[in-house]
Amino acid sequence: RSKDEGGNKHHGYEPKLHMHAEERRIMEIALRKALANDEFTLNFQPIVRAEREEICGFEVLLRWHNPELGHVSPAKFIPLAEDARLIVPIGRWVLENACKEAMNWPVDTKLSVNVSAGQLSDPNFMTILIEALSSSGLPPQRLDIEVTESIFLHEGTMAIDVLDKILSLGVGLSLDDFGTGYSSLGYLRKTRFTNIKIDRSFVQGAARDVPESLAIVRAVVALADSLGMSTTAEGVEDEAEARRLTDLGCKKIQGYYYGRPMPADEASQLFTLQQRKSA
Ligand code: C2E
Ligand code: MG
Ligand code: MG
Ligand code: MG
Repeated sequence: RSKDEGGNKHHGYEPKLHMHAEERRIMEIALRKALANDEFTLNFQPIVRAEREEICGFEVLLRWHNPELGHVSPAKFIPLAEDARLIVPIGRWVLENACKEAMNWPVDTKLSVNVSAGQLSDPNFMTILIEALSSSGLPPQRLDIEVTESIFLHEGTMAIDVLDKILSLGVGLSLDDFGTGYSSLGYLRKTRFTNIKIDRSFVQGAARDVPESLAIVRAVVALADSLGMSTTAEGVEDEAEARRLTDLGCKKIQGYYYGRPMPADEASQLFTLQQRKSA
């Protein structure tokens, strides 16, 4: 709130910025009531084991539909929820409901959940996480937490402690959107990530033979291999890209080619279809 009212940089004179602040204000008011009004749903996007082309899990992606605002993209409302400190209750809802849903899937599959810096710095985060696991019955080994490089900027050493606690439960830890952030390799030494998700920009560059992207994907895969981490290629949109990233040694593939984010019932049907095919 103080961000909008204080620092009178914008002052409301610049029409575009004024619109932007007004849009934000309206959206924040709606977001405060969204949980109570049942406006959130969960979508699930398949993650595929590269060499066998079979689904090994799903990433849960939050969706918000408000009667006045319509569908709002997470790219818009997640940063807003972070600023307004609403990410803690919203993130808790996601964790609890996604863990319950994953109990309907085969036991050798995993659930990936995105977690923001503001959740990791919440003193109750570990309690919330443990409670989500125990109340659903989901074994910790079936859960992966995805964080981006930005958490290291915001939270300093505190984030590293929480990451260690998450790992000590047996929960996996993925470094999301790798390559788009600050790309200091220091935190790969400080934290034992179990997986690196290579950002779509490098994935698509590598598939189009952009030399720099190719070099970066090769280097990241080699680094991950030698540190005992797996790699996921994000944003794979066609067969050629899937083949290319598999050949480059990525262990897992995710993207529209294998499936868009979909409602929970469609996600569990994919498992049934796959089991029938392999039977
Ligand atoms: P992310 O975790 O990197 O998720 C991947 C994003 O890429 C998703 O966007 C997904 O729909 C999109 N995507 C997947 N495959 C493809 C593809 O082949 N092509 C293209 N063009 N895009 C693809 P989405 O669902 O809009 O989510 C955006 C971001 O919002 C996520 O990025 C994540 O950072 C955040 N987010 C989503 N749900 C949650 C949540 O429950 N909690 C938190 N803290 N953040 C979330
Ligand atoms: Mg993610
Ligand atoms: Mg990502
Ligand atoms: Mg992202």
